[in-house]
Amino acid sequence: MNSSCSLESSLLRENQAAVRTRAPNGELSIYVHIPYCVAKCPYCDFNSVASSSWPEEEYVAALERELGTYAKTDVFAGLPVTTVYFGGGTPSLFSPWAFERLLSAIAKDWPMHSSAEITMEANPGTVEIHRLQAFRAAGINRLSLGVQSFNDENLRLLGRIHGAQEAIEAVASAYGAGFDNVNVDLMYALPGQTLQAWERDLLQACALEPTHISAYNLTYEEGTPFYSWRKRGRLRPLEEETEVAMFTLAEDLLSQHGYCRYEISNYAQPSFPCRHNLRYWTCQPYVGVGAGAHGYSSAGGNLGWGFRWANERSPSRYMAQVQKEGHARVGLDHLDFHQAAGEFVFLTLRCTEGIDAAAFARRFDRRVDEAFPVIHSLVATGLLEPTPQGWRLSPRGTLLADSVFAEFL
Ligand code: SF4
Repeated sequence: MNSSCSLESSLLRENQAAVRTRAPNGELSIYVHIPYCVAKCPYCDFNSVASSSWPEEEYVAALERELGTYAKTDVFAGLPVTTVYFGGGTPSLFSPWAFERLLSAIAKDWPMHSSAEITMEANPGTVEIHRLQAFRAAGINRLSLGVQSFNDENLRLLGRIHGAQEAIEAVASAYGAGFDNVNVDLMYALPGQTLQAWERDLLQACALEPTHISAYNLTYEEGTPFYSWRKRGRLRPLEEETEVAMFTLAEDLLSQHGYCRYEISNYAQPSFPCRHNLRYWTCQPYVGVGAGAHGYSSAGGNLGWGFRWANERSPSRYMAQVQKEGHARVGLDHLDFHQAAGEFVFLTLRCTEGIDAAAFARRFDRRVDEAFPVIHSLVATGLLEPTPQGWRLSPRGTLLADSVFAEFL
């Protein structure tokens, strides 16, 4: 594993430095969930529904109403919006008109930062250049393409609606349509995949020169067809050593091509880390709207150490609840000190720069290793290592990240 690839991520430092003691952060991010897909991929456990048609107008109206509700709350009112993320599902199924309307609704309710990052996830099977041009004109300035693989056999196994050639054309079309910030999502550790095949996917991605590459290992989530196929022996997961070799190959090969890993599964050219996701990983506030979306605020006072909420997951029930109540919350959790501080530690540990001890102390009025003495045993066992700012996952800790995070729950 290449741990010397240090991204000059001033963005990450800015985010960490911006974390204030128990007060709402001075900026806001907005996540908008669009849950419709052409087909349900058998490995997917996101809140998405396969549908041949979708109530675009009605759904957009519900999103506008929900945004309006949060814009009037004390905690979120008036904060400048620095990132917006349209995720799904397959947001690119909606028309450019929908994004124009939603972005105007956000800009009407909140001051929009002039250089806000506005991302849309897109399925390579649903984009062609004129459509992409219209999305760009609607205000989207970052495109995240769910490529997953450049191998047709793997794409069929994953149940994707696009082929390898379409994926290649989608990246070229994105640049042709005027996007200069494009992410390519890849998946590895697919059943039957060899290290060589994974290398070909990585090289093809690099050849297309996206600004950002996400490389996720396949997981078998309960409730998905992949989970039961694995249980019944129809799918055979790769050996753990092969998975580790694939992670290491991604890190080495991508760093040779100018992409630095800044989070467990995310790589970027300098200045192109995803600002929206960095805000999640540094515990900054965000409003989530749409079916199954989540929101979070670090606001203190009577609300304790912050709170988070989750929305109704079913799109039809989501729309009905918003129409009745102006929001679709089905759960609201106030965080106690241990939850808020633990979340801060394991989320920031996802980033390669790790925990900023001074930011923790500013926010929680305590030393981080006093609140979590386990940090010292994790250093002793080689899972964490010290940095000038605090601690980060060691190369071995990165491979065992989930068990490290469990220590802070
Ligand atoms: S396109 Fe994405 S969100 Fe939709 S089913 Fe496939 S993986 Fe899930």
